[in-house]
Amino acid sequence: MTIAVDFDGTIVEHDYPYIGKPIPFAIETLKKIQESGEHKLILWTVREGEYLEEAVNYCREKGIEFYAVNKNEPDEELFTRPRKLAVDLFIDDRNLGGLPDWGIIYNLVRSGGCSLFDFNELLKQGETNSRPVKKNFFIRLGEALDKTGKKSY
Ligand SMILES: [Mg+2]
Repeated sequence: MTIAVDFDGTIVEHDYPYIGKPIPFAIETLKKIQESGEHKLILWTVREGEYLEEAVNYCREKGIEFYAVNKNEPDEELFTRPRKLAVDLFIDDRNLGGLPDWGIIYNLVRSGGCSLFDFNELLKQGETNSRPVKKNFFIRLGEALDKTGKKSY
């Protein structure tokens, strides 16, 4: 898959134009995804100029080398239109429901699926683990639907 990954609020905490604190397991997860050799990672951020360079360098120093930055292909002209990336998946803190735990992100990418059904199944698996799962929109929606007896997908 080709996967677009946001920077601020996704790999590091929001502190633009500075580099925020690392978000737990973001870099580790991206490295595992990258090392699988099955996926292309594209950095997709509002950062430009020196702020963009700082983000790219931050990731590079941690071992993440993106296939392309703010574009589909490394040699694509920046003014190419349409601007929308032709990717299979976006990892972004502005996702509907917020940014899932990076462990969940890894499992979704590894399974090749990103449907709401898969997501709910992974969340259920996460609930059976000892590690607490942050209750985001999808978890709360699933719980609410479970109480009404309706299927949650
Ligand atoms: Mg963001």
